[in-house]
Amino acid sequence: MVRSPKVVDMQECLHVVSDDETGLTGVIAIHSTVLGPAAGGCRFWHYDAHCDLVADAMRLARGMSYKNALAGLPLGGGKAVLQRPKGTFDREAYFKAFGRAIEALKGAYVTAEDVGTNVGDMHTVRQETKHVAGLTAQPGMAGGDPSPWTALGVFESMKAATRELLGFDLSGATVAVQGVGNVGAGLCRRLHHEGAKLVIADLDEARAAALAKELNAKVVGIDEIAAVEAEVFAPCALGGILNADTIPKLRARFVCGGANNQLASDADGKAMHNRGILFAPDYVVNAGGIINVSAEYFGENSHQVRDRVVAIAPRLVSILRQAMDESLSPATVADRSAQELIARARRHEAA
Ligand code: NAD
Repeated sequence: MVRSPKVVDMQECLHVVSDDETGLTGVIAIHSTVLGPAAGGCRFWHYDAHCDLVADAMRLARGMSYKNALAGLPLGGGKAVLQRPKGTFDREAYFKAFGRAIEALKGAYVTAEDVGTNVGDMHTVRQETKHVAGLTAQPGMAGGDPSPWTALGVFESMKAATRELLGFDLSGATVAVQGVGNVGAGLCRRLHHEGAKLVIADLDEARAAALAKELNAKVVGIDEIAAVEAEVFAPCALGGILNADTIPKLRARFVCGGANNQLASDADGKAMHNRGILFAPDYVVNAGGIINVSAEYFGENSHQVRDRVVAIAPRLVSILRQAMDESLSPATVADRSAQELIARARRHEAA
């Protein structure tokens, strides 16, 4: 008898988007629509190989399914990853073409900002489709740049976990932050206000220098930041920073940051656990942005967003406690919980 391989995780759909006229090239990965339309931002970045772009989209889309499920949102998970053209290009035409690609999916995918895209791009997309959030907020309503909400959720999570599980306060503690873009800079400002000492690194040296001046932070090189002597390491750049090379060098006791897909592989979650370093699963703590996007898409207000964002920290503490009790990595516990939520909804839908 020929046995079928076990499918552990699969995407519902992978759409290739391409437009010769504007140079639009990329994919929209739809991991799951069981809980609602697949929602996740649009990453606009340069990839050397198309397969890397596709792999990134699929990994990010799965992360969005899990993030949205654990945050209790009526949304599935998806992600658009677009190739940033080399040289000059017509940005408005490019994002209008992307908007038409989203419209063709008839609401199966809802986009918003991610690395490399901004509010202006989302307004361009809006000219072609209503399945977009992250637009300028209307008075009293949710909307606008989601990154301040993401930074708030990460900060509150870090504060609660260090206090309740690790026995120290952020005031006086050193936090190393990798990437000081929209999320990283917002997190740094909150940490500074809390009295933490900051060590930062960014590919964009001018950006790091300007923030260091504002917050009296120390700047180190991008290859040094993971190994800095600090109580907490906060990855806020791109994915894969927790890997076979960096994990042995980490000196922080706790890793908690806004970047998506911080673990290069599942094995790296176990390696962190084996080294006794507590890891806050990224999609649990960085859900603030999608909570804002969801509220905007469904016409809710910013009070509803705040209530849901402050609920992230106790959720994280509960996942970390469960991981400690079962001697599992927190990433394993978070994945398991999200998969159970999605499976339950699928059974309910089928019944
Ligand atoms: P951003 O583009 O504003 O900032 C990213 C920063 O990281 C940039 O300053 C960039 O120069 C820097 N960077 C890139 N590679 C680096 C490296 N190797 N070392 C040091 N710095 C590096 O993006 P953002 O919106 O702040 O998002 C940051 C991360 O958070 C991403 O992984 C994103 O997917 C995730 N995230 C963002 C949101 C949001 O609301 N914006 C929500 C959830 C998750």
